[in-house]
Amino acid sequence: MNNPKTAQWQAMSRDHHLAPFSDFKQLAEQGPRIITKGEGVYLWDSEGHKILDGMAGLWCMAVGYGREELVQAASNQMRELAFYNTFFMTAHPPVLELAKAISDLAPAGMNHVFFTGSGSEGNDTMLRLVRHYWACKGQPNKKVIIGRINGYHGSTVAGASLGGMKFMHEQGDLPIPGIVHIPQPYWFGEGGEMSPEAFGIWAADQLEAKILEVGEENVAAFIAEPIQGAGGVIIPPASYWPRIKEILAKYDILFVADEVICGFGRTGEWFGSDYYDLAPDMMTIAKGLTSGYVPMGGLIVSDKVFAVINEGGDFNHGFTYSGHPVAAAVGLENLRILKEEGIVEAVKNDTGPYLQQRLGELAAHPLVGEVRGVGLLGAIELVQDKASRKRYPSEAGVGMICRSHCFSNGLIMRAVGDTMIIAPPLVISKAEIDELVEKARQCLDLTLEQLQSRK
Ligand code: PMP
Repeated sequence: MNNPKTAQWQAMSRDHHLAPFSDFKQLAEQGPRIITKGEGVYLWDSEGHKILDGMAGLWCMAVGYGREELVQAASNQMRELAFYNTFFMTAHPPVLELAKAISDLAPAGMNHVFFTGSGSEGNDTMLRLVRHYWACKGQPNKKVIIGRINGYHGSTVAGASLGGMKFMHEQGDLPIPGIVHIPQPYWFGEGGEMSPEAFGIWAADQLEAKILEVGEENVAAFIAEPIQGAGGVIIPPASYWPRIKEILAKYDILFVADEVICGFGRTGEWFGSDYYDLAPDMMTIAKGLTSGYVPMGGLIVSDKVFAVINEGGDFNHGFTYSGHPVAAAVGLENLRILKEEGIVEAVKNDTGPYLQQRLGELAAHPLVGEVRGVGLLGAIELVQDKASRKRYPSEAGVGMICRSHCFSNGLIMRAVGDTMIIAPPLVISKAEIDELVEKARQCLDLTLEQLQSRK
């Protein structure tokens, strides 16, 4: 180690820090990598290594690290009004201006925003608001929310229940009652002998089967990510969303698009719902809203839903930090940067297509079964046999091997099982995309070498 502080920080981690989604014992043994600085699309660790952040922090760093405008927006707001709540008939300028700015960007007819501190809280808010909506309409039995296996909607009790992550449900008796799940539209992993199109229809039809099983009179809403992120950048076959829309039109239930990852430009459109023309009733947002500079999430509500809850009296729900003025000021400035620098257009017309083209070149690699992506989202499936899509045995830990080669070689790429995923900052340049893809290729080579040397 070059930096004596690294060991000190790692000792603090071992002795005091309970890190999210971590095996505490393993983390204590290995010690965390300490990230100390960010600039543009790059991070530095405490040992001085420069790393290309292929995951935008945690899908959130849209405008790049180290933006002075956001520092200014936060410090100006802290000086002016560091905090005030938005409860009990009060508000402040940044929260109102941000609600308006978000409504202007959101799909038509989505004009009302409830603010939270995170995406999980956005989905907790959604669960309560959806049930309140149906109660206001005199249909209080409509309580059940349908989510998807391997969807991700957060880590609070409601968020983790709405999500379909088995390893999360196993801890803490989840899901809570009133939440059920249908299969995901993951053709590469689960489509078997079906064509992607036929599988997309099959997966969508599971929604109708579940509505009929639970009873339309009991179903409140369906929640889904336009493209599943944490589940492995799962891009549904083209047949999926149109069929889901047909089913939603047939039954009287609400549709919630979880836009926490897809929102604010990731797909090259402002929202994943624009990309797929989903016309949801509600959208959960977070991450790219503030580029992660400060925590903030929310729920955008359609005029149709608003018309009902507007007549419903008090909605007894809110967080101390709902619409926090500093977060709102940063959010506003972040949206200004995204708009004025044409960042979302660049993802659509320039850097997004370029990333997809360059990533596509990796499909020829012997370890790669499929490369897929939209905008600045991408996934690389690692397989033992390309033609049959056969995986290596899970004990081989191929994804984790690849991830650790990436980390050692200056690239952050995440592994979901044996699916490598990327979601770089939206400001990534073409030269930086070249670097990302070349590093990824080198790490695929190193992974394959390691697997072959084990035989
Ligand atoms: N929904 C989706 C689609 C997400 O990806 C995430 C976070 N990865 C969340 C909700 C939860 O957001 P948070 O971690 O801010 O609570």
